[in-house]
Amino acid sequence: MMSSSLLAAGIALSAAAGLQPYEAVEPHMGTLFRIKLYAANQAQAQHAFRAAFGRVAQLDAILSDYHADSELDRICRTAVRRPVKVSDDLFRVVSASERLSEDTGGAFDITIGPVTHLWREARATKQMPGKGAIAQAESRCGFRKLHIDSEHRTITLDRDSMQLDAGGIAKGYAADEALAALSRLDIHSALVAASGDLAFSDAPPGQAGWKIGVDSLDSAEVPFTRVLVLANGAVSTSGASEQHLDANGARYSHIINPKTAMGLTRAITVTIVARHGIDSDALATAVSVLGAKRGLALIERRPGVAALIVTGGQGKLQVIESSRFRLLPKTQTE
Ligand code: ADP
Ligand code: MG
Repeated sequence: MMSSSLLAAGIALSAAAGLQPYEAVEPHMGTLFRIKLYAANQAQAQHAFRAAFGRVAQLDAILSDYHADSELDRICRTAVRRPVKVSDDLFRVVSASERLSEDTGGAFDITIGPVTHLWREARATKQMPGKGAIAQAESRCGFRKLHIDSEHRTITLDRDSMQLDAGGIAKGYAADEALAALSRLDIHSALVAASGDLAFSDAPPGQAGWKIGVDSLDSAEVPFTRVLVLANGAVSTSGASEQHLDANGARYSHIINPKTAMGLTRAITVTIVARHGIDSDALATAVSVLGAKRGLALIERRPGVAALIVTGGQGKLQVIESSRFRLLPKTQTE
């Protein structure tokens, strides 16, 4: 028993010894995707980068709501009151979204598109959307207006002029899928970072894990930075204040509360640790909407998920760690 496991460890070490770190960055999904990986040589690394970024580009073409010809956009026109068979990728993202909508009473809602588009325009013009426009957009939203048939892999929408927005979940899923593409090429130690969404496989050779710094966006006010040491997981951070509109003395986030169709105005930064990016990404958005108390309750109910929630600001900062977050391996730095 003992000798065979020692032997296995020995083999793993010598195999790892030949691996070198490589890094590449490309723009995708309206942000930068950064990939770090360990490969035997430059040629293998280049081949792997092409496959991983290629997979992300493919997902962007399916899930984007900026390109009118994405599959996500097309089904908003074709799946009105009739079932349309969709790709596995779109199906996975929409069904994960719908499950989370059920679990959060609609705090996470992939059908929020008409409202997010209105606020996107408002941020561009620096003008608050009008009450009438908000009400009109809201009437075209609602996760219960979207129906999934798991057996036939179809989606049906209850009405026309609906708009899906995968912005709260797509980057996490793309990070997962980039890792999967790397793994198919025998790259088992890699990290994919799409701004606030990270997913990673085995630890770098000879290390305990990937070192992942977790800050409040308002880090000047937080007395410490936590550095997590993790492997085979995902970390996502959603910040209500990252993209925003300042109007009427309030700061409206790009994260929308579907109950009011308004951008969040409370200061909250949520970091979620989960096994997969599709979950950490969507949960970070969902907990931002739910707020610290209900958000924490949601996280505590989910096995294998941990959260760090920072609320308030200007001297009223509150830092909340879920029970599993407290147990995560980390190095604490000043
Ligand atoms: P970021 O895009 O800054 O990383 P998030 O992962 O929190 O942050 O995603 C925010 C995006 O999710 C918004 O830009 C919008 O596209 C979408 N979104 C906003 N509100 C919601 C919501 N309540 N449910 C689902 N998606 C949302
Ligand atoms: Mg998200």
